[in-house]
Amino acid sequence: MPSIVQVALDTPLHRLFDYRLPERLGGVQAGSLVEVPFGRTLQVGIALGQQTDSTVVADRLRDVIRVLDDRPALSPDILRLARFCADYYHYPLGAILLATLPPRLRNAAPFVADAPWLVVTEAGRSAVLPARAKAQRALLDALRVAPQASDALRERKQGRHAAALTAGGWAEWSRVPPHTDGAPPTSDAPAATSEQQAALDRLLPVLGQFGVHLIHGVTGSGKTELYLRLIDAVLAANRQALVLIPEIALTPQLEQHFRRRFPGRRFATLHSGLAESARTENWLAAPDCDVLLGTRLSVFAPLSRLGLIVVDEEHDASFKQQDGLRYSARDVAIARGKQSGVPVVLGSATPSLESYAQALNGRYQLTELKQRAVSRAQLPEIALVDLKHIPADNGLTRPALAALTETLARGEQSLVFLNRRGYAPALYCPSCAWVSPCPRCSARLVLHRTSQRLKCHHCGFETRIPAECPGCGNPDLKALGQGTQRLEETLAACLPAARIRRIDRDTMRPRAWAELGEAVHGGEVDILVGTQMLAKGHDFPNMTLALILDTDGALYSPDFRATERLFAQLMQVAGRAGRADKPGRVLIQTAFPDHPLFRYLQRHDYAGYARELLAERRQLELPPFTRQVLLRAEAATMDAALAFLHRAAALAPASAEVSVFGATPAPMARVADLERAQLLIQSAQRQALQAFVRDWRPQLDTIKPRIARWSLDVDPLVF
Ligand code: ADP
Ligand code: ZN
Ligand code: ZN
Repeated sequence: MPSIVQVALDTPLHRLFDYRLPERLGGVQAGSLVEVPFGRTLQVGIALGQQTDSTVVADRLRDVIRVLDDRPALSPDILRLARFCADYYHYPLGAILLATLPPRLRNAAPFVADAPWLVVTEAGRSAVLPARAKAQRALLDALRVAPQASDALRERKQGRHAAALTAGGWAEWSRVPPHTDGAPPTSDAPAATSEQQAALDRLLPVLGQFGVHLIHGVTGSGKTELYLRLIDAVLAANRQALVLIPEIALTPQLEQHFRRRFPGRRFATLHSGLAESARTENWLAAPDCDVLLGTRLSVFAPLSRLGLIVVDEEHDASFKQQDGLRYSARDVAIARGKQSGVPVVLGSATPSLESYAQALNGRYQLTELKQRAVSRAQLPEIALVDLKHIPADNGLTRPALAALTETLARGEQSLVFLNRRGYAPALYCPSCAWVSPCPRCSARLVLHRTSQRLKCHHCGFETRIPAECPGCGNPDLKALGQGTQRLEETLAACLPAARIRRIDRDTMRPRAWAELGEAVHGGEVDILVGTQMLAKGHDFPNMTLALILDTDGALYSPDFRATERLFAQLMQVAGRAGRADKPGRVLIQTAFPDHPLFRYLQRHDYAGYARELLAERRQLELPPFTRQVLLRAEAATMDAALAFLHRAAALAPASAEVSVFGATPAPMARVADLERAQLLIQSAQRQALQAFVRDWRPQLDTIKPRIARWSLDVDPLVF
């Protein structure tokens, strides 16, 4: 009787494919990577179930070519997590499974991976070997001091002793060497503050089981320190910790900080900034590591002894992937924690309203840290500059300039926050009102003066700055509005003595963060100018002024999450000011000083604003009180995109609990020459919405004529 394997392949089809397993291949374990013929090509897929018959007629059934046993099979918990995602996000299982692998392993070319380090295990640390096993004892002693490289062991002919130690469970082969050049584990661990201690007293006893814990702690309250102590406890129980951090990341800094705290432990990192080879190595190393630190993709990393998941800055939008499988790593982390019986700790100074609502209704455990950990560090005073009464020159008001001058005179540092990179948001012709449109998008081309180009921040289109207006030939074109480059120029003109540095996506290269951190710490910078990149992570003790320019666009935006995001951003930026023993000050220029957001911000009252926003959301039946799914369509013409959505709406299953809204052009109606439209589906009940989409999605495949692209976005963040 033939053995049939079901294989998941990276295709848009929501199904598995049957293949015959030739006898010469023996058995195949679920999760193994296999090479199979598909159409006229060969593809790498994941073997799932095995059975004795198939609905495919025997002579059309093709053979598995080989099992790729040069790389590990996906573990049962990853298969289970991928199934959850396929179900919840209505996305093909095969595409998800292959996307969890680093690109190199999706390729069938032979792969040589080895585990080059012999390291001591938890059991080996305290084991007492019999006296006659002299060579083994000596090797174990050596391992307690440092890991040993396999080639060195081979050279010294100690392979046999190594094997004896691994057989006894006292040592193991590892792809990651532990970090060994640090200080002893507790040397730089400060005594816990009373709030941290109270949090630990609650959290430590429940570490062995699933639960979602939201740590709401003001910036500088010592959330990171709290994670470190929880991780410490998890490592002591010989389990692993997965720490998810935002994409923008300060991975190197955090990694350093973690490594220093846990010398002798094995670390791995995973993020998109890694070279492909490093990403592959680290992914392979993940099952052996003690702590895995990474961005959203690491939520799918293979971890065999998972004991804790931490999601730092859980509100951060970068946890949501915006194409392909549009997953939220935070939500997938919670699903993983639940499946594996492992606690999930979410931390933020400004939790997402989704998480905060769950904490208020008791589904998540709320832990609050209200004080800054360093007792002298006070929360900064926040003042507003009313742009309706005080004019701005080149984007800067007189009080703002005065504050910068005073700070400079005191020898302290300032940061100036403007969330728009480039020189100016557009180039403008005063005679015919031409405003540098992108030829491919419904957006303006941004003026970048340093590179002398106009660039589209949506599709990547760029062109030289025209010498004259393409509309009327006028040679006198003007920069319209302010970007960070122009701001830097203005500041340099107003404060010639100040040393100014700009940070935004245009200036940031790998390593640039570390270098910038050193420059600021070393007092080589007086004023930091930048976009939201400024808001994260860095702790600059001498930074006492934060100046915030032009955020008014978000106050009255049609995006219902705009104020939530702005509040979080402003809290973060404000958190940068006055972190050590010097009082900080925040100055915000706005034409709407009466907006409630500022009232709460001035009181540092996240909880108050969150409750107000939640009341509003409840009344308007918006998330988190309802669940949404967005059907996105992209086509050559808006008519075609809308026609697709009208057809989709007509095919919607009848459901009393689900509302289907009208098809509309997307807020950014055209990107890269494609017209975009969307259809919103909403329900107060997640189950009903899920059932609805499950019935609906197969219908969408049948719609004719086909359009360029469509996709379902479950729990959309951006519209
Ligand atoms: P958060 O992540 O909440 O912004 P951090 O964990 O970065 O806060 O801590 C802010 C600052 O307070 C850091 O400089 C940190 O070293 C310090 N800190 C944290 N916990 C303590 C503590 N228990 N005692 C003294 N300093 C602490
Ligand atoms: Zn013109
Ligand atoms: Zn464009």
